Amino acid sequence: MNGIPLVHASLGEQELAAVAEVFASGWPAGQGPRGKALEAQLAERFGVDGAVALSNCGVALHLALLALGVEPGDEVIVADYSFPAPAHAVRYLGATPVFADVRADTGTVDPQAVADLVTPRTVGVIAVDTVGLPADYAELNALAERHGLFVIEDAACAVGATYRGRPAGALAPVACVSFHGRKGATSGEGGALLTSDPAVAEHARLRSAFGITSIFDQAQVVGLPIPTFTEIGYNYKLSDIAAAILQVQLNRLDELLERRDAVAARYAELLGDEELLTLPRVPADRTHTWQSYLVTLDRSVDRTAVAAELRGRGIGCGHGTWASHLQPAFESKQACPVSADLFERQLAIPMHAELDTDQVERVADALRGAVRAHAARPV
Ligand SMILES: *Cc1c(COP(=O)(O)O)cnc(C)c1O
Repeated sequence: MNGIPLVHASLGEQELAAVAEVFASGWPAGQGPRGKALEAQLAERFGVDGAVALSNCGVALHLALLALGVEPGDEVIVADYSFPAPAHAVRYLGATPVFADVRADTGTVDPQAVADLVTPRTVGVIAVDTVGLPADYAELNALAERHGLFVIEDAACAVGATYRGRPAGALAPVACVSFHGRKGATSGEGGALLTSDPAVAEHARLRSAFGITSIFDQAQVVGLPIPTFTEIGYNYKLSDIAAAILQVQLNRLDELLERRDAVAARYAELLGDEELLTLPRVPADRTHTWQSYLVTLDRSVDRTAVAAELRGRGIGCGHGTWASHLQPAFESKQACPVSADLFERQLAIPMHAELDTDQVERVADALRGAVRAHAARPV
């Protein structure tokens, strides 16, 4: 019996053909014709004025905080149950990440928890679309407006999700997305900053390229323009090779999302009646990209034993995401009990666009058997 991987990127012939075109063009570096075309495609798809192609979502968060003027000593409230990139980015600027607990049913940041953490030093909030499910932006944006705070949407996993009919990636004034190999659309590594504020986009684009404008563009001018370095910048550009791959991936995105949706729907049919499992809940006003499919195990179930059994049968699985405040790097003394509980009890089971119905059924059977075998009280 073949193994069933937890994740599998859907990259194929079309992406290879796009890469071959970049090779032939002679410009594989960033901010060339492909990068520009990708930025236009992103701006159109998300309905935003500014899209900046970047080497990953982590650097997009860094540039977003820089553009918003975050300084040492500032506090930025971050969603706790997440890959901890938002807290890392806050620390890049010498500011303090303040961890906000999440909703038990969605894993997304709890707007009330955010409200309770606002102090005179708070400058903004980074909300996370947890493994592809948008957070509560109506409440979060209203709260931010009341307190004069910025909101950044970490939509790393949520390209293709919607909230009240609007696309994730455009739910806050500044958003960051990821095209890492574990996300729904990928160039291996990749990311973008999306914003309704052209000044933020310009600020970020310059600082993604050592503080100067596109070298490719400069070479198209007749004459000899010599750029001046007026800012300390970084090299956070996305290569045109990656941009070409992403143009194909974005064209395929709706089809890839449909396939993930079908897998999620089948898991719900097959496992919805299992008392030892809580399946993901998607509120009616939003849609999920299913970057990950996280089930929550009953407290009586030994998660480590379940995972070992699944992996022993060749079925990929993993923990959910992280309770950020518990990661030693941040030396936090805060408590986020809901996030800590999800961190202990959630299990990621195979979710990608290449799963067939037979594999989904095998996963569901194996999972049901494993949770029953490893529950403290007999079932
Ligand atoms: C994956 C992820 C990131 C990091 O994205 P990279 O492109 O790998 O830097 C940031 N935030 C969240 C919520 C993520 O899931």
